[in-house]
Amino acid sequence: MIKIVLFGPQGAGKGTQADRLSKRLEIPHIPTGQMLREEIAANTKLGQKVSEIMNRGELVTDWQMNEIIRDRVNAPEYQNGFILDGYPRNVEQAEFLDYQIAVDKVLFLNLPKTEVMKRLSGRLTCPKCGAIFHKIFNPSKSGDKCDRCGTVLQVRADDTPEAIAKRLEQYEEETQPLHEYYLKKGVLIEIDAAPDIEQVGLLIWEALGL
Ligand code: ADP
Ligand code: ADP
Ligand code: ZN
Repeated sequence: MIKIVLFGPQGAGKGTQADRLSKRLEIPHIPTGQMLREEIAANTKLGQKVSEIMNRGELVTDWQMNEIIRDRVNAPEYQNGFILDGYPRNVEQAEFLDYQIAVDKVLFLNLPKTEVMKRLSGRLTCPKCGAIFHKIFNPSKSGDKCDRCGTVLQVRADDTPEAIAKRLEQYEEETQPLHEYYLKKGVLIEIDAAPDIEQVGLLIWEALGL
């Protein structure tokens, strides 16, 4: 049983690695950004509220996110462990999470800024199952369709230069302080996210001591 948090700059490979790790460890993946995109696609009340905020690359309010997370991490199917990807995004959310559960490991996927744009500018995602591809680094075998479910892949609505710049700015201001927060708690593990997908996967596996 292990409760893992992944954080790091946009494009570091959090979604990609969380998905792999979730399969290997057989524990659920909680990708908050993807969950919100599904709310938007299904045109739910929450989806309508967050759609413009997300497309601008701004953050959804802490209380909206905290509510979603509280329901998940306390649900019976999450008691054998889980991988949080995209939450917490700031110290307030981290404090809220600590109040709910004890985090075992926090993986900080570190990627130099110069690499971020290369990753994000080629990202393609499946609007149906959330699978993540890259035009060059991780192309779908079937061209423009998802290898898992056959849906036509899309460029995320917030992978525009303006929204990416905004998200990176938010990352530096809001999310970076989590490094110190979790370091102090003694649960932080830093992973070099620059190598290829397989290699980063190995580094994570080794770091977790599994
Ligand atoms: P990225 O890491 O590239 O910004 P995500 O898929 O993790 O992408 O998140 C997409 C968007 O979803 C964010 O820009 C933000 O608007 C919203 N979001 C996701 N998780 C959170 C969170 N924990 N707190 C606030 N907003 C969030
Ligand atoms: P994050 O969730 O941290 O924003 P993603 O997992 O969505 O990152 O990955 C961003 C993009 O970079 C995707 O297109 C993905 O296929 C690609 N990618 C992920 N990890 C690597 C890697 N180690 N090397 C090259 N490309 C990668
Ligand atoms: Zn799919």
